[in-house]
Amino acid sequence: MSDKLPDLIDPMLFAERRSALSGVIKIASLERLADFIVSNDGDIKVEVLFAKHGKQAVIAGSLKTSLSLECQSCLQGMSWPLDLSFKLGIVSSLQEADQLKIDCEPLMFNGEKVSLNELIEDEILLALPDYPKHEYDCMLKHSSKDANFDGDSQNQTNNPFSVLAKLKKTGE
Ligand SMILES: [Zn+2]
Repeated sequence: MSDKLPDLIDPMLFAERRSALSGVIKIASLERLADFIVSNDGDIKVEVLFAKHGKQAVIAGSLKTSLSLECQSCLQGMSWPLDLSFKLGIVSSLQEADQLKIDCEPLMFNGEKVSLNELIEDEILLALPDYPKHEYDCMLKHSSKDANFDGDSQNQTNNPFSVLAKLKKTGE
């Protein structure tokens, strides 16, 4: 099994053949995504199944990766795991898109080959949060430790649990 995914595909042909693709796409190869991430290291694991439901050609896919987004509070990088699946119905007109009966998003196909990379990139861009933010209170951490603002913390006293432990002790 090859890890390499083709970029340009004919989705109708793949659907006729009930093809299945799986492999990886380099994060660095997705140019539009570059504006939203602070590091383009790493891969996106992709699985795509092509099928037909009656006459309707359908693409069902999933992707898994971890992106480095910029936290909008502290402006430091944060890793943002992404694991999503999508289902697309191939249509050739808006009318067909309206008439999609099965539960999937329309994918316009005008006979020209479709870029699998762009398709995956679209799904990722749709899933990106508007306002990425660390789950913990990262500003509190940085303001209480100004000297350490630029670097990653190598200091155990920054551990929020040590504060909790102290509180517990004094409470007794
Ligand atoms: Zn933050």
